Amino acid sequence: MSPSPTVIRVAINTPVNKLFDYLPVAGKTPVAGSRVRVPFGRRHLVGVIAEVCDHSELPLNKLKRAIELIDAEPILDGPLLEMLNWASGYYQHPPGEVIAAALPVAMRQGDAAAKASVQVWSLTPAGRDVDTGALARKAAVQSALLAILANTGQATAEQLRAISPGWRKTLATLGERGWVVCEEVEQPLPDTAVATPPSDRAPKLTAAQQAAINGVRVKGFSACLLEGVTGSGKTEVYLHLIEQQIAAGRQSLVLVPEIGLTPQLLDRFERRLGGGIAVLHSNLSDAQRLNNWLSAWNGEARVIIGTRSAIFAPLPDPGLIIVDEEHDGSFKQQDGFRYSARDLAVWRARQLNVPVVLGSATPAFETLHNAWGGRYQHLRLPERPGSAQQPDINIVDLRKYPLTEGLSQPLLAALQRHLDAGDQALIYLNRRGFAPTLLCPNCGTTEECRRCDARMVLHQKRNRLICHHCGSERPAVSVCDTCHSELVPVGLGTERLEQTLQAAFPNYPLVRIDRDTTRKRGELEKLFAQVRNREARILLGTQMLTKGHDFPDVTCVGIVDSDQGLFGTDFRSGERLAQSILQVAGRAGRGDKPGEVWLQTWYPEHPLLTTLLNEGYPAFAKQALNEREQTAWPPFAHLALLRSECAKKELLFRFLNHARDVAIRLAGTEISVMGPASSPMERRSGRYRAQLLIHTAHRGHLQRFLPGFRDAIAGLDDARRVRWSLDVDPLELF
Ligand code: ADP
Ligand code: ZN
Ligand code: ZN
Repeated sequence: MSPSPTVIRVAINTPVNKLFDYLPVAGKTPVAGSRVRVPFGRRHLVGVIAEVCDHSELPLNKLKRAIELIDAEPILDGPLLEMLNWASGYYQHPPGEVIAAALPVAMRQGDAAAKASVQVWSLTPAGRDVDTGALARKAAVQSALLAILANTGQATAEQLRAISPGWRKTLATLGERGWVVCEEVEQPLPDTAVATPPSDRAPKLTAAQQAAINGVRVKGFSACLLEGVTGSGKTEVYLHLIEQQIAAGRQSLVLVPEIGLTPQLLDRFERRLGGGIAVLHSNLSDAQRLNNWLSAWNGEARVIIGTRSAIFAPLPDPGLIIVDEEHDGSFKQQDGFRYSARDLAVWRARQLNVPVVLGSATPAFETLHNAWGGRYQHLRLPERPGSAQQPDINIVDLRKYPLTEGLSQPLLAALQRHLDAGDQALIYLNRRGFAPTLLCPNCGTTEECRRCDARMVLHQKRNRLICHHCGSERPAVSVCDTCHSELVPVGLGTERLEQTLQAAFPNYPLVRIDRDTTRKRGELEKLFAQVRNREARILLGTQMLTKGHDFPDVTCVGIVDSDQGLFGTDFRSGERLAQSILQVAGRAGRGDKPGEVWLQTWYPEHPLLTTLLNEGYPAFAKQALNEREQTAWPPFAHLALLRSECAKKELLFRFLNHARDVAIRLAGTEISVMGPASSPMERRSGRYRAQLLIHTAHRGHLQRFLPGFRDAIAGLDDARRVRWSLDVDPLELF
């Protein structure tokens, strides 16, 4: 009897929604989860073996043979492959692209699963004897390079480049003198990854922290919501849970929202846990990411901290998954493979049979709904430890107090008081640039983006008009095209507020933190350091400031203008506004001194504000969830969006109307189809945007409907003429 033929089904990074069948490399036993190089059209591509089976829908003699088996050992283990396969089905995204999203770039390109090496420089014994002080007078750069090598022992190109742009030439001179040597070493992991003993000791836990820790099972699946007010010591709870896992020889995966959060958090984890921490985020170089990924993969890293895509990190010894600030929107990918890392974290914990902890001061309403319904365990930290108190939130009624350049008298007075007392103040305005509108007071014309239905934002320092939706730029103008009157900047952005604050408080240094001031690598860390070492006294910024940072000396927070959020069009806008108000308010009074918050609004009687501020977040959430139940919005319904865009509006609607017919034909009575409807900002980057909303009471119905729907749309003639994508469990409806 001849052995049954073996076929490998390969996931290839293309937008085609299927696996591709090949014959395995001759003489090699294929294993699922290993990479292969295969012929694909006229190219050779790297793919991952998703399955090994004994048949193909194609005749065997039509199958091509794989060229090379790259990995002897699988790089994706069985459970991870299974999760990726599930996610591909659930989010209706091609399996090849899903698997590619889980791999570091170098692995996608077929590099060996081995750590990259880098060049490092160090001093020779002769180099150590050089009198750098004397040298500094004649050759400053030489002396500075020797000094950094003396201090660090070993330095990389990146560190040396910071000394002088001409470092390489100078270093060669030093090499010729026999003072420095260069060698190739395995890419050094960041200090955090080297196993070192911890230097910080844990504070004595509060009773609530202890109860929360006891409430999380050490083994076996359980999902917990850790709801703790800002500064209540959630991170401390995570650290204890992770220590338990380290003691048991298991790995912990920690997801955090944004990279701005990571340096400080990482420091704290390192000081408490010692080394063995691998970091995964998009700000790393490809080599660093590969190495950190490999240390998770080979089990060296006991703790993996990363942003969204770290949910796909390999975990050979899984023990625990934590999602910090679980309400944060950045856990949902907003283009391409539109997965929710928070939701996948719960799925993965169940699959791996480990506990998952979702932590937040302002949990997402769907998470609260799960906790209140008994599906998640609900752990609470209602107070800050020690003497720290939750800050009071004061409303400034703008109908009573006039604004000067965006600031009211009560807020200005509070700032003065706190600054004079030696404390720091934080001012929150979620709008960057100088002014959001440039208006002609004579004829009423505004400067518009030519590619979007949006106004150009004036950036005064750069003297440019910039569209915040498509990135278009043009030089700023000062007179109206139509009537030649002088244009006036209207409205307030962080750049303008910076000037106002500097004029009002000339003696207190200010830092502004937004996307414009932190574009350069390392800039964000530098600005945060200035806040922490008290060089800066006023801290002004956008939502980048609201995310979990701990500034112990900030006692006063001003929320300048968040009224827009009161009238959002999305069913989640109220939830988002409440979260950002409480998160930014939570930056006040984290040290020993009490904090206060001033919120300026034209609508002090708006029910969102009165419920939130008088009754608290849970009461606000309960009320909002009742409304969602009555109007059948998530979590009481399940949604998918067919998003599409096209330069021709007619074509766009022809496509969506066809898609709607298809949907109605396929949908049973359980599914309703709404639209097509234009997005509120109809045109962006020169393309019209519109969508179809699929709405159903049960997730199961949606999941049975979507595959057939997707295939049917892909088969429509117009599907190749418009851009379209499916967004399952969309976070934003527009
Ligand atoms: P969260 O993660 O909820 O914002 P953190 O864990 O960052 O809170 O704690 C806030 C502050 O309180 C930190 O400075 C932390 O060191 C301190 N802290 C946490 N737990 C305790 C405790 N049990 N005793 C004293 N201080 C604590
Ligand atoms: Zn005009
Ligand atoms: Zn634009």
